[in-house]
Amino acid sequence: MQPIIRNFLFHRVNPEREQLWDPMPPELFEKCIAYISRKFKVVLLEDLLADPDKHARQSIATICFDDGYLDNYTHALPILEKYGCKASFYVVTDCIDFNQMTWTHQLDYRFLNTDREQIDVLFDFLSSEFHATSLPTREARIAYCKRLKPAIKQLPNLQRVKVCEHVGAMLNDVKMPKLMMDWNHLAELVQLGHRVGSHSVSHPMLASIEDSEELSLELSVSAMRIEEQLGHFPKTISYPIGSFNDRVVEQSIAAGYEFGLAVQQRDFSWPQDDVYRVPRVEVYNEKWIKTWLRLSGWLPKLKRLMSR
Ligand SMILES: [Zn+2]
Repeated sequence: MQPIIRNFLFHRVNPEREQLWDPMPPELFEKCIAYISRKFKVVLLEDLLADPDKHARQSIATICFDDGYLDNYTHALPILEKYGCKASFYVVTDCIDFNQMTWTHQLDYRFLNTDREQIDVLFDFLSSEFHATSLPTREARIAYCKRLKPAIKQLPNLQRVKVCEHVGAMLNDVKMPKLMMDWNHLAELVQLGHRVGSHSVSHPMLASIEDSEELSLELSVSAMRIEEQLGHFPKTISYPIGSFNDRVVEQSIAAGYEFGLAVQQRDFSWPQDDVYRVPRVEVYNEKWIKTWLRLSGWLPKLKRLMSR
């Protein structure tokens, strides 16, 4: 049987619940790491990709975290250390520099916590359903946010930024919490043998950036900030929200990255998959049975069977 290479992607690990983007509770995370470390040899993604031939003879797992949330340090790190697993942390450098959440999380948080009842996102590039609306209940505001987010993910990046800034100014009654790691946390992770790589400067959908210079800045400036602060140029770019295309790959190579990470919910096949389009399996806060189906690789098989 062909050995399996499965790259697992986590985001937040936290005992606190959030309605729109719920972190994984530490107990579930520990169950995942216990399972992964029992069933696979866990290696760093960068070590695997540097020499896939060396590793491809046995079943391998890698563990990644995107975004750079502080709970990775406070809640996930002790569990990783307990099981002797090293992981790679891909950070959004503006989020680290300014201690601000990713834009998608900021939108969630503002709509969840605002008391403003009038929302008016009046841009001619957005559907009229988002223009002046009365949202008198929290439920109505949450439903609006759930419609707005996918709609603006389709926009060119500059338009998406305009909408986010507008919503930030409109719902400015919400005090935003400080939830990100700082450079000292990241330096400590590196010292413990974990890796830090880039997840861009501002978490845009990279494929939606029309201007080559803007795309190049997202890729290069985040690498430069990591090099300045941690003393190494990151080998890896994790494409935010899994958004990439051939142009993003070309510019990632030009920026000096050796590896590029997608999501795609499937195993890494070597040598078929190339190292700038590495698939990862994202794991969420779900019931253990569903999580187990993802970790074990049974979920895609089950879906294929059921679609017959
Ligand atoms: Zn992200």
